[in-house]
Amino acid sequence: MEQRVVGRFAPSPSGRLHLGNLFCFLLAWLSARRQGGRILLRIEDLDPARSKRAYSEQLQRDLAFLGLAWDEGGLDADGLHAPYEQSRRGEFYQQILNRLRAQGLVYPCFCSRAQLHAASAPHAADGEVVYPGSCRNLTDDEIRRRSLARAPALRLMVPDEEISFDDLHYGRCSQNLARECGDFILRRSDGVFAYQLAVVADDAAMGVTEVVRGRDLLASTPRQLYLYRLLGAPAPRFGHLPLLLAPDGRRLSKRDADLSLDALVARGLSAAAITGALGYAAGLLDRPEPATPDELVPLFSWDKLPREDVRLPAALF
Ligand code: GLU
Repeated sequence: MEQRVVGRFAPSPSGRLHLGNLFCFLLAWLSARRQGGRILLRIEDLDPARSKRAYSEQLQRDLAFLGLAWDEGGLDADGLHAPYEQSRRGEFYQQILNRLRAQGLVYPCFCSRAQLHAASAPHAADGEVVYPGSCRNLTDDEIRRRSLARAPALRLMVPDEEISFDDLHYGRCSQNLARECGDFILRRSDGVFAYQLAVVADDAAMGVTEVVRGRDLLASTPRQLYLYRLLGAPAPRFGHLPLLLAPDGRRLSKRDADLSLDALVARGLSAAAITGALGYAAGLLDRPEPATPDELVPLFSWDKLPREDVRLPAALF
């Protein structure tokens, strides 16, 4: 029997959501709903310095306002897979880390970001430095000595191997982890678990079968697939989305106050006008006319979505 689709919203509450985030959530929701699936909301507040509860509360109001209802999860929610805030799942991540450690694939790394960037190593697809493996073969003595001066991050050894997957939108994608990424961080030196570890641990534990998100995370997918393999968990299907750009071609960020939902609503736009404009940007409508998420469900198809990044219609501004 076909497994029921479980999609998810995985927002980081580090600012107000912008239209790019909402575009991803709308499409994740439409894809799941089109297949009769469910949606789970997980709050990705791993980084205590950047996350605020007020942003989590606000983003839940924003999703509800737009008509993007979720079936499981959210702030303080009970449920089969609770808690749904990553800040409350540290013990679980530690267990996952221990399982990877038991495979002999995790090692402490004492390199600072500044050192790595100064070493002018090649840059990976996502603009990060390809880790040159400097701390891969430290002796126990060296580890002890260096630990006195600095708490280490923990890295995962990656294989010199091409990891491939079929993206629902961009088709076949491949990456050689050793060459294009290098050994990557599972836990930072300040003890905060890395996004890559937490997202895989949670998507696997929560039974997520479909991940729909911006193409800025496409380059993370091979790392995540490698983690699924090591954990012996089935990987979800991945569908990456073009990025939304402002009408002048600039990339949207959480700093774009003029594109926050508040600002759009203050300018008199209704929820359906906003979801309609996003549906138009996704190629589901011929014109940026009002449409609720429910009305967009029967129109959704990956084929209609553009591959190139999409400029928002100027009518929204
Ligand atoms: N929390 C991540 C973000 O807001 C998304 C993670 C994901 O979709 O895998 O960028």
